[in-house]
Amino acid sequence: MTSTAVTNIGELVTNDPAAEDLLGLHHDAALVVEGARVAWVGPAAEAPAADEAVDAGGRAVLPGFVDSHSHLVFAGDRAAEFAARMAGQPYAAGGIRTTVAATRAATDEQLTAHVARLVQEMHRQGTTTVEIKSGYGLTVHDEARSLAVARQFTDETTFLGAHVVPAEYADDPAGYVDLVTGPMLEAAAPYARWVDAFCEDGAFDADQARAVVAAGAARGMEGRLHASQLGPGPGVLLAAELELAAVDHCTYLTDADVDALRDSGTIATLLPGVEFSTRQPYPDARRLLDAGVRVALASDCNPGSSFTSSVPLCIALAVREMGMTPAEAVHAATYVGARALYREDVGRLTVGARADFVMLDAPSHVHLAYRPGVPLVAGTWIGGRPVLGRAADA
Ligand SMILES: [Zn+2]
Repeated sequence: MTSTAVTNIGELVTNDPAAEDLLGLHHDAALVVEGARVAWVGPAAEAPAADEAVDAGGRAVLPGFVDSHSHLVFAGDRAAEFAARMAGQPYAAGGIRTTVAATRAATDEQLTAHVARLVQEMHRQGTTTVEIKSGYGLTVHDEARSLAVARQFTDETTFLGAHVVPAEYADDPAGYVDLVTGPMLEAAAPYARWVDAFCEDGAFDADQARAVVAAGAARGMEGRLHASQLGPGPGVLLAAELELAAVDHCTYLTDADVDALRDSGTIATLLPGVEFSTRQPYPDARRLLDAGVRVALASDCNPGSSFTSSVPLCIALAVREMGMTPAEAVHAATYVGARALYREDVGRLTVGARADFVMLDAPSHVHLAYRPGVPLVAGTWIGGRPVLGRAADA
């Protein structure tokens, strides 16, 4: 097994849960990788010998970002809708149907090539684990093939047949829920680890979302929900009651929602790319953190409400607009994102973890928020192998 020592790390973020500080920071550090795993972490001067060496030159190294919420399987473009929204038209969930039509018309090869391009874009920005949802097919065939495409890129695949009621079921939403919880779920199950529903006015109500999550659970899928994006709703309480891994958006929360999240341990995944791209008010991360709620950050990369694949942008927005410290935002986009996927092996750089890490062209994680919009990722490694940067090019 080949070993690699990354030495001369100015600041190493380990996210070691046993550390006294949130990020488990080490300075003047080294990281030794054996095969796909982290084998040693400590002071650079004490690093054991390894087959190969990478000199970080004083740069910061941190766990690769865990983007726990994305919708990469789609076709088409909604730039015109974005421009109209910026000209004053409000965002409505129905715009999803435009993408559904384009996705159904695309070939498997087109969908696969498109996801590959977006995943590569994510690697360039430091993401090493991505969750990918279906939800733009909305037929039995198109949901199953969307998940089969996603499965080529990640194990964290999510069945989101309950994204929106498609046009052909506009007069029969109950019939559509029966389809989702029946034949569509059956076809999706071989490819999906998770089940999700958009619990919001204009999409699915609490009873429908509950039925979808229960049907998925009966097939061994873990649940997560979209909720309280466009206004207060029942989805957050439902997610907490069911003790789901995560409930995502959480832009409009009641005090009861916050209490329920704290008591259940369900993670609130905040998606500030959405508020940025729809000119909605940002979620109040400070309120959640001060209440003891676990907060993750993710991109929600999708063609309608947040067409960014950049976790660094989300970190910068969370710090500038949502009251998070740089350390909290980085932790939310790595360690807590991993927990939102029930993953212990990623989102941290401790002995035994998967060697998924990012080197910044910067001395500290703070630069991710301090230097917004600057491409700071100098290299990305997944499972100990460089996928981007000078080492990957060599
Ligand atoms: Zn989403």
